[in-house]
Amino acid sequence: MFSKPKGTRDILPDEMEERRAAEKIIRECFESFGYREVQTPIFEHSELITEKSGEDIVEHLYAFEDKSRRRLALRPELSAPTIRLYANELITKPKPARLYYIENCFRYENPQSGRYREFWQAGIELIGTASPLAEAEVIYLAFSTLKKLGLKNFELSIGNVGIVRNYLKLLSLADEKIKAILHILDKKELGKLGTIGIEQGAKEKIIELANIKGKREEAIKKITQLISNIAKAKAGKNGIFEEIRPFEETLKLAEMLGVDDYVVDFGVVRGLDYYSGTVFEIYSRALDAQKQICGGGSYSLVKLIGNRDEPSCGFAFGFDRVMLALEREGKRFNNKKIPFILVIPRKKEVLHKAIEAAAKIRKQVSCELELSGKTLEKALKYANARKIPYTVIVDEKEIVIRNMATGEQKSKDVSKAEEVLDGIER
Ligand code: AMP
Repeated sequence: MFSKPKGTRDILPDEMEERRAAEKIIRECFESFGYREVQTPIFEHSELITEKSGEDIVEHLYAFEDKSRRRLALRPELSAPTIRLYANELITKPKPARLYYIENCFRYENPQSGRYREFWQAGIELIGTASPLAEAEVIYLAFSTLKKLGLKNFELSIGNVGIVRNYLKLLSLADEKIKAILHILDKKELGKLGTIGIEQGAKEKIIELANIKGKREEAIKKITQLISNIAKAKAGKNGIFEEIRPFEETLKLAEMLGVDDYVVDFGVVRGLDYYSGTVFEIYSRALDAQKQICGGGSYSLVKLIGNRDEPSCGFAFGFDRVMLALEREGKRFNNKKIPFILVIPRKKEVLHKAIEAAAKIRKQVSCELELSGKTLEKALKYANARKIPYTVIVDEKEIVIRNMATGEQKSKDVSKAEEVLDGIER
């Protein structure tokens, strides 16, 4: 017996049907905003990933050499591959480009509930603009898609890594320190600020910033105050970052679009270096340790890959975690029964009539043909065990439909197989 590789899952039919039903809703939401689906290879040149996906992800890469000694890696996320596709194929096309994907990704991580080595991301990239309205639309799309899926208990946190970076610069911190601090903030491990060799005063100021969490007006007021206090103390004059106004604008527009429940959180910075402005994360309260179900924001990845600056924004749902959260909230999408009917030939001699009947029934519902010559009794037992709601028993002249739950039966002439479902709720 072989077992599946660590950190992977086998997805059985019941779960698969739920996933496909959810996927359909996600696709409809993305497409309703004009996004079009793309597919990229499962593996890319390692370099694309190692240079663009950020250290944290690179540590967990499935990388290998092919027979021609090309260095390749299984994709750990889909932003970098999608931007590569854009830079290769679409850069001369009208902007902005709205692209989406629902694909599997691979990371060599320690598996636990909600964290796998193979997992799925459903995400969008809006490439060629990162205006406040573009950011607001992207946030609203993530928010409204989760609502459409029926997810109830989630929290949207919006921050701005551009403001945080400038704030850290204002504290006269060097670039590599800023990188380390952003990493600590992203991991929400503020305790580690003591380990990277920064002064106590700076540490306190960073914690003060990371703790700004609340409603728009209050949060903007606090960050403005904090910045101007530091600027005043340093240069004796008022200081305010030019990023604050557009950020405020993004938040106001998101509210206008319908994002009616969120917090501003300057502790949200996202791990990757290429995020530049507004960033956001969504957490499910129904999940435990791995509760982040979505991450996104504005970034300037096209410049890194395509040598041309094109501001962009996007997000990715952790699809498996979204499904887990929905399941914990008791949400079910699919009540379709497959198969709906089992067609049973009463005897060998009527097999051709059963085949004909099954073909007619299949035009209306899913239907399985009894293939193994079971007796009627055994075939009915099988239908019961499989929870197939109806059986259709085909004989020389007559065709009988039986409700397996109630035992109720009605019959038709065998030539009228298509009528057998009349009046039956499906
Ligand atoms: P990231 O690309 O790291 O920002 O991840 C985007 C989303 O993918 C996260 O918010 C998670 O929901 C999901 N995700 C990331 N890593 C895993 C994993 N190992 N297993 C399951 N979901 C993951």
